[in-house]
Amino acid sequence: MGSMVFIRGDRLAAALDRLAERFDLWVPAAASRGGGAIRFVRYLSGTTPVLDRLTALSPKEAVQPQVEPLLRFKTIKGEGSRESDRLVVDDRIEVKPTLVFGCRPCDARAVQLSDRVFLEGPYLDVYYRARRESTLLAALVCREGDSACFCSAVGGGPADTAGGDLRIIPLEGGLVLEALQERGELLLEGWSEAATEAEGAEARRVVEEVSGWRMGDLETRGSIEDFKKRFQDRDYWRDVAERCLSCGICTFVCPTCYCFTITDEKKDLEGERLRSWDSCMFYQYSLEASGHNPRPTRLDRYRNRVGHKFSYFPEKYDGQLSCTGCGRCVRFCPVSIDIRRAVAGLKENVCECA
Ligand code: SF4
Ligand code: SF4
Repeated sequence: MGSMVFIRGDRLAAALDRLAERFDLWVPAAASRGGGAIRFVRYLSGTTPVLDRLTALSPKEAVQPQVEPLLRFKTIKGEGSRESDRLVVDDRIEVKPTLVFGCRPCDARAVQLSDRVFLEGPYLDVYYRARRESTLLAALVCREGDSACFCSAVGGGPADTAGGDLRIIPLEGGLVLEALQERGELLLEGWSEAATEAEGAEARRVVEEVSGWRMGDLETRGSIEDFKKRFQDRDYWRDVAERCLSCGICTFVCPTCYCFTITDEKKDLEGERLRSWDSCMFYQYSLEASGHNPRPTRLDRYRNRVGHKFSYFPEKYDGQLSCTGCGRCVRFCPVSIDIRRAVAGLKENVCECA
C-alpha cells in the first residue's frame, strides 16, 4: 500500500478547506439545501460532503463538462465591404488543478475507460487531455452498494483501484487517504497527520473485507460474440426495449457514455463553439443530413447502447467492457429497463436480478 494519512471525522472540513486552496475540489453533496439527490458539486467552505450515499450523477463532468466552450470567436468589422472584416478566434484551453474527492471505484474506472477513447487515438482530444492531466481522483472504498450495483461482474469491485490516484478508506472515526499513484503521493507530501500503524492495519482489513464482496452475479464472459449472435434477433430486442421512452436518462447518468454534439452559439458579432453532452438514445443523434437514419427505432438505439458497452468497445479495447456496473441506468430508467436483463438474455439465461 502507498503512503497513508488519517483524517479524523471532526477534521474533515478543515482538510477539505486546505485542499480547496490548491484544487478546484469536487465532492458529493446534496444538490440543494433542502437535500435531494446527491451529486458532485464544487466544494466551498461549509459544503457538507455526503460520503455514505451513492451519487445520482458520476463525476465525469470534471473531465467532460456538460457544456464546454471549445473556442470563442469575434468578427472585427473592417472599414469597407465584408471582405475587410476580420475573424478573431481564441482557442485557449483554460483548466485548473482539480481533485474529485469521494467518487466510487466504479466512477474512477469509468474515467480510465474514457481515457482510452480520448487519449489513445487515432484522434487525440486536446480538451479532454488538458482536463484529465490536471484532474486527480480520490475514490472511496465502497460500503454502500445497492441491488442495482454489479461492479464485480464487469471487472471492478468495491475496493478497485483502476483510474484512482488516491483511495479513501472509511474507518470508525475518520478516513484513511492512501496514495495509489505518484500524483497521489505528491498530494500527501507534507501532510502532517500520517496514519498510525493501527489505522493502517485497520484500513488494510477493510480493503480486504470489501474486496471479497461480490456485487452482482451477471455473467459477461463472451459478451462480444453473444451480442453478435443476437444482433439480428429483433424479437429479442423488442422484448428488452419496447418500453423505452428514448428519454436519454441512462446515457446522461452513465459514467462511461461520452456522446457529444458541437454547436456554434452566436450573438451579434461574437460567439462560442460549444461541446455538449448528447445521447445515442435520441432519434436525432444518428439522423443523417440526407434524412436517412441508421438507427430509426428505439429498439435499434437500445441495441446499440448494449452493443457499445458489451461488444464494440471490448472488441476494440482488449476485452474491456465499457460498463462499470455502477447501476445508475438501472436505478434511474423511468420505465425500469435493466441492462443486466438485456446482457443476461444474450446467453438466453434467465437473469435473477430483474
Ligand atoms: S433511461 Fe430507460 S427509457 Fe430512458 S432512454 Fe434509457 S432505457 Fe430508454
Ligand atoms: S451502462 Fe449502466 S451500469 Fe454500466 S456504467 Fe453505464 S450507467 Fe453504469
